[in-house]
Amino acid sequence: MNEVVHLDTDSDNGGQSHAVTISGGMSYGQLCPYLHDRGFALHNLASLPHISVAGACATATHGSGEKNGNLATSVSGLEMVTADGEVLNVSRRSDPQNFCAVVVGLGCFGVITKLALDIQPAFLMRQSVYENLPFNELLANFDVIQASGYSVSLFTDWQNHKINEVWIKSRIQEREDATEFESKAEFFGAPLATQNVHPIGRISAENCTEQMGVRGPWYERLPHFRMGFLPSAGDELQSEYFVPRHHALEAILAVERLRDEIGPHLLITEIRAIAADDLWLSPCYKRPSIAIHFTWKQDWNAVKQLLTLIERELAPFSARPHWGKLFTMSPSQLKPLYEKLPAFVKLSNQFDPTGKFRNQFLNTYIF
Ligand SMILES: Cc1cc2nc3c(=O)[nH]c(=O)nc-3n(C[C@H](O)[C@H](O)[C@H](O)COP(=O)(O)OP(=O)(O)OC[C@H]3O[C@@H](n4cnc5c(N)ncnc54)[C@H](O)[C@@H]3O)c2cc1C
Repeated sequence: MNEVVHLDTDSDNGGQSHAVTISGGMSYGQLCPYLHDRGFALHNLASLPHISVAGACATATHGSGEKNGNLATSVSGLEMVTADGEVLNVSRRSDPQNFCAVVVGLGCFGVITKLALDIQPAFLMRQSVYENLPFNELLANFDVIQASGYSVSLFTDWQNHKINEVWIKSRIQEREDATEFESKAEFFGAPLATQNVHPIGRISAENCTEQMGVRGPWYERLPHFRMGFLPSAGDELQSEYFVPRHHALEAILAVERLRDEIGPHLLITEIRAIAADDLWLSPCYKRPSIAIHFTWKQDWNAVKQLLTLIERELAPFSARPHWGKLFTMSPSQLKPLYEKLPAFVKLSNQFDPTGKFRNQFLNTYIF
């Protein structure tokens, strides 16, 4: 189930917005070249193309860019097989209430067999990387830095009061309301990298998408890692917390204060911006967000203790954890973070009254 089912073009839909319908097992790595070859693009991608579209959307997977919603926000409809074997279609237009619940559905509602996604004309991008941005420059210019590209990622190991790498991904064919990033030799005191780099400084950049301002298709610039190559470190643990954008600096400083505890166990942190959305269990539900991600060394006992510490420090900002990454907060801490959770549970019970699609994780945190 890894094929394109239908590609809407202007002639199909009378000039309305473009859409692609895919089957439920397709990965972004399979879909993106297909779209680009036919002149189309998705609005954004995660750091890696290896993941399935259905799985990524079900867990509210995101990329970066303050104007870009997470990947699930491009879904306009889906087909699923429910617990009793019925084939059900839910779309943004015909059933907006159920739609906002089931798109980031954590697998609770059924097996997604098809997804319809919004697409746009293909575009070119380039990415520039700056190294060693002083922390005080980040704090003084956070909004300008976030707005400097279509997608911006800040990588830090939290040591020495600096952001190790700033990745700025900009569109060549910009929309009318945006300007193209001009890659100068220096960016707020951080020099332009002179060669491709990996987010984890000591790892070869061979696995990474092309940098150095080289133009290329959107799907070979939006992810950090190249299809066909190992993403990230390969055997890491990951966690990520979303805080409301207006608390970004306080939250970043709260984590920075833990730098001595975090340092020995961390491979790298990534800080990204995501636009708000209306998908009930999205960590960006109704709030523009900053996500603080941790790539950890493989030591769950140590990481577990650190997560509890980080969660305590981020609790004043109502930090929501990524559904597809590790966290330690209790269900009673998690549940108040999602105002739509009771409605989500009610609807899930209607779709799947016997709990066919539940597992221990869902029983613990959702049901
Ligand atoms: C190296 C690396 C980099 C990453 N980078 C990012 C990043 O940049 N941004 C980010 O947000 N996350 C990132 N992640 C996390 C990743 O996006 C999540 O783990 C995501 O869930 C992966 O999707 P998947 O399809 O591979 O997972 P899967 O495990 O296949 O799916 C996740 C869940 O979705 C549901 N699901 C999947 N398929 C279906 C279906 N057909 N029908 C119904 N339910 C379904 C199930 O509940 C399943 O447990 C990264 C992970 C790794 C390992």
